[in-house]
Amino acid sequence: MSTYLPWSAPSERQDKPCLADANTALTYREVAERTEAFAAQLASRGVGRGDIIAVMLPNRVELVIAMFAAWYLGAAATPINPVFTDDEAGHQLADSGAKLVVTAEPDRFAYRLPAIGVGDMATEAPETALAPVDLSEDDLALVIYTSGSTGRPKGVMLDHANLHAMSAQMLERFTLTEDDHCMLVLPLFHVNAIMVSVLTPLRAGARTTILERFHPRDFLDAIATHRPTYFSCVPTILAKLTELPAGFIPDTGSLRFAICGAAPASAELLARAEERFGLVVAEGYGLTEATCASACNPIDGVRKLGTVGPAMPGQQIRIVDPTGAEAPTGRSGEVVISGPTVMRGYLGNPEATATTIVDGWLHTGDIGTLDEDGYLSIVDRLKDMIIRGGENIYPKEIESVLYGVDGVLEAAVVGRPDPVLGEVPVARVSLYPGSTLTAEDLIAECRLRLTKIKVPVELTIIDEIPKNPVGKIDKPRLRSELSPEPEAP
Ligand code: AMP
Repeated sequence: MSTYLPWSAPSERQDKPCLADANTALTYREVAERTEAFAAQLASRGVGRGDIIAVMLPNRVELVIAMFAAWYLGAAATPINPVFTDDEAGHQLADSGAKLVVTAEPDRFAYRLPAIGVGDMATEAPETALAPVDLSEDDLALVIYTSGSTGRPKGVMLDHANLHAMSAQMLERFTLTEDDHCMLVLPLFHVNAIMVSVLTPLRAGARTTILERFHPRDFLDAIATHRPTYFSCVPTILAKLTELPAGFIPDTGSLRFAICGAAPASAELLARAEERFGLVVAEGYGLTEATCASACNPIDGVRKLGTVGPAMPGQQIRIVDPTGAEAPTGRSGEVVISGPTVMRGYLGNPEATATTIVDGWLHTGDIGTLDEDGYLSIVDRLKDMIIRGGENIYPKEIESVLYGVDGVLEAAVVGRPDPVLGEVPVARVSLYPGSTLTAEDLIAECRLRLTKIKVPVELTIIDEIPKNPVGKIDKPRLRSELSPEPEAP
């Protein structure tokens, strides 16, 4: 059951490299020892089975050790974005009922709950060995707060059965072996980094090098130095990498593939990244509520650009209309998912759980289509759809036209309230350095390729499209910057 846990790793793996960051490099044995040491410290502070601990740290080895130590005791971890304000972190601490927080700033939270400073984490196990609990499938493992594009973030409860199923599915789809080496660059408070870049490689006996943050040149330097075989990224990372001057030719020869997900990537961007860095870029799709990935193009096999690939092995994907009836092949509707990776529910929120998981099917709020081979395409998010004079407009369709123009780096289209039409599409675009494109050029392209109602009524070129902390285009922020009415909290 717990084959992704370092203390359950086979003995021949124990002296192999496991986790490293800028300051620390640990073998499987050392990870297990550090986990036991910290678990003993947590136990001495009263943490035990069924508890939740919060971990508010930047990407570093200790974050993973703290999470493993919670599991060693049968407790769960809730990772918190380290740059959260007091209000944002306070919401997560209160909502999760965390018993203790592991943080770089223990004084900051001392007034609300016990804290352990990252520098005070025990690294030596006590004399009397502390045995790991015998984890059962329904022991809660993680409570991950979703990006919360509407309302306050909710805590997604994932148990060890969810993590076990997800890591097995990824192992198969990504064809990972113990010779693989992951470069982790996405934030560890998001499920993508935990699953794709920690638990799945550890289950394979592979290794992970953790970078604290993404910077395009540093990232490519780190690839040349550490020689990883794969990484997981969001489209913005690919955009920043492909934006580097053409004369800059990094050594990316060790890379076998990259997984790109979490937000829509244009086919142009994926093709450009593949060509420039000479690797397979497989687009996938998923959500925290389904423990990360629900569909992904295969690494070895038929990849269809513009789709997010077939369902992960063991998951079922259906497209349904608003009545819940299955849509015919090629017709769009809401993406619903079933299988062993569907979350247990939202913590302390049975109402939201009941409207999200209906008869065992997870309602994603995403609109998609399935082709005859079962490859999924994401059309848009239900809540991003623009209704202009009663007609549905999918912003992604307009964004695809903009992405198709040479020189466009990123594009985002949102609905602006309109007293007559209800909503009208408005676009924000950023350009590759040196591009001389103008807003008029882009509007002209939209006029050529789209029916009149879809042409943005306003298009502005800006330096950078705003992103949320996990790198998705921040549409709520773009909308609130347009709308005279502030968005509901
Ligand atoms: P999160 O739970 O924060 O990972 O957010 C999940 C949401 O991200 C999904 O419901 C989708 O709206 C979006 N998403 C993830 N992957 C993709 C993708 N490849 N293309 C389009 N949207 C995506």
